[in-house]
Amino acid sequence: MSNVSLRNVRKTYPGGFEAIKGIDFAIADGQFCVLVGPSGCGKSTLLRMVAGLETITSGEIDIGGRVVNQVEPADRDIAMVFQNYALYPHMSVYNNMAYGLRNRGMKEPEIDARVREAAKVLEIGTMLDRKPRQLSGGQRQRVAMGRAIVRQPKVFLFDEPLSNLDAKLRVAMRVEIRKLQRRLQTTSIYVTHDQLEAMTLADILVVMNGGEVEQIGNPLDIYRKPATTFVASFIGAPPMNLIPLDGREIALQFAGDSRAASQGGILGVRPEDLLISTDLTPAGGITLELTVEAIERVGAETFVYGSRQGEQGVSLHPGELPPGEVIVRIPGQMAPSIGERIRAIAPRDKLHLFSADGRQRIDI
Ligand code: ATP
Repeated sequence: MSNVSLRNVRKTYPGGFEAIKGIDFAIADGQFCVLVGPSGCGKSTLLRMVAGLETITSGEIDIGGRVVNQVEPADRDIAMVFQNYALYPHMSVYNNMAYGLRNRGMKEPEIDARVREAAKVLEIGTMLDRKPRQLSGGQRQRVAMGRAIVRQPKVFLFDEPLSNLDAKLRVAMRVEIRKLQRRLQTTSIYVTHDQLEAMTLADILVVMNGGEVEQIGNPLDIYRKPATTFVASFIGAPPMNLIPLDGREIALQFAGDSRAASQGGILGVRPEDLLISTDLTPAGGITLELTVEAIERVGAETFVYGSRQGEQGVSLHPGELPPGEVIVRIPGQMAPSIGERIRAIAPRDKLHLFSADGRQRIDI
């Protein structure tokens, strides 16, 4: 069994900076867990703690039923794939993959079988004699993965492995990594700041913010029911529209929820859930009166950026929409003109409501 459990894990760097503030979660055998969050949220620190490359200030990390806090990285039965590939430039592809196994004293026939099998899976069988400089970025990344695969570890740890690739190759490699992991059924932890990569790869998604877990769960559940405004704006692109409401507006729209009515709150609606229409407001839903400020046509869909008038600004998390701006996502290329006044409507079942500080989801 290769399940991984983190129990109240904390990390304070020398100098006193608390990078990880008490993290608990468990990954079942064979699951693909993705840690996602903005730069500096602590995801690499956490992964490096699992790998044993960073000490744990307090708490426990358990791999396959064994607490590994004091276990050396080489003895944790993990294999790590780094962003910069970390290949030996003077060694052939074959030797790069074989190196770790030779260090462990494995017999050559067994090494040969493992390297050739991994090379076949990764489709780099014809490149075994080349040096890393004779490979493209994507091929180098495959070699780095091959080196992890031949170890047959309990756990794969990926630290932003696709960051150095161009956009198209990233997508292709993302699909390959997922197929490979399904085939090998090896428990995996994958760090990325790319929410799309996170959504598409994860069985379990861990959204981190400021050294803490903001939300953990199935990616689509998180998308459908973000627990905080931070998650609402981080998961999904373009981000969810977040509109601060005063108590009166909420009382009007969401009669029955006295908490929200008395405390004020933030209304959320995803760009794809807004419809440009002259219809009346759907029962219990909303209408936004917008002036079109900008249009982005990306082919299959169009993003319409509109502004609302007369809004009071409130301070939201970075990355969220500035107060007053609303994005509407419409299929196809038809779009209103810049400066045009439009109405965007959404039914009640597409609305999200959060407490005024954004820290709590309120069911409506
Ligand atoms: P990125 O996506 O930019 O790599 P991250 O989420 O992986 O970000 P970490 O590298 O884990 O973030 O860093 C988390 C926090 O810990 C950051 O604020 C960083 O400045 C701090 N940090 C990292 N390493 C050290 C260190 N050796 N000493 C002190 N602080 C550190």
